[in-house]
Amino acid sequence: MTRITFLGTGGGRFATVYQVRRTGGIYLEDGARVHLDPGPGAALAMRFLRLDPAKTDAVLISHCHPDHYGDAEVMLEGMTACSFSRRGVLAGSKSSILGNGDYGPAVSDYHRRIVLEARTMLPGDALSVKDLGVRATRTAHSDPDGIGFRFSTSEGDVCYVSDTELKEDVADEHVGARVLIMSVTRPLRSRVRNHMSTEDAAEMASAIGPEVAVITHFGSKMVHDGVEAQRRYVEDSSGVRTIAAEDFMVLDMGKRIRARRGWRPG
Ligand SMILES: [Zn+2]
Repeated sequence: MTRITFLGTGGGRFATVYQVRRTGGIYLEDGARVHLDPGPGAALAMRFLRLDPAKTDAVLISHCHPDHYGDAEVMLEGMTACSFSRRGVLAGSKSSILGNGDYGPAVSDYHRRIVLEARTMLPGDALSVKDLGVRATRTAHSDPDGIGFRFSTSEGDVCYVSDTELKEDVADEHVGARVLIMSVTRPLRSRVRNHMSTEDAAEMASAIGPEVAVITHFGSKMVHDGVEAQRRYVEDSSGVRTIAAEDFMVLDMGKRIRARRGWRPG
């Protein structure tokens, strides 16, 4: 069984600053435990869901925007048992790990040193976290070093497209995905540069044909305009079963893929 937990489903500046949706990233469990893009509030979301940061095996950062790395150093301290145990993997875009002049790094020299392995990834680079295969994929975003991730899990491939414009060579990276997780910042009729809109998500889902498409990383206009309407558009125009992620939603992947509501505070 592979489990994907959404510690946050917000993205973009306004949604992050005002926490229109949470921004704690995505937690993938498949033997290995991987925390993907631990944005602001990741530590709090982990606590709510009773996930122990000390059991995380890898922290992955797709690019160097704060909605994707705000709590990264805290989660690295968690992974290393508050820095007492040198363990785990930190991997991500060059901008996140080393900085590229314009952006980053997202983590200090100190935090790179406390983990067992810290590495940058370019599109096409691969690594293993226990038995979980991870490959970096191409993006077209305002952080030029940005990457997405493709996970080869025991239940099939899970692709996390991350922040990107829709381009053919970006979509091609995700052919064969069983679950396609797309960062859809903008709603219908509101496309902007560097991000995917609802129309783009529909086009990509249609081109890839995964078993399930998940839309997440909602900007504030997306939430204001109604996420369900966007989900319906993607599903109706692509013919792909589409799920709009909710904060603390859990996706269980076995023979079937089931979404359930995780615990909700208060
Ligand atoms: Zn971004």
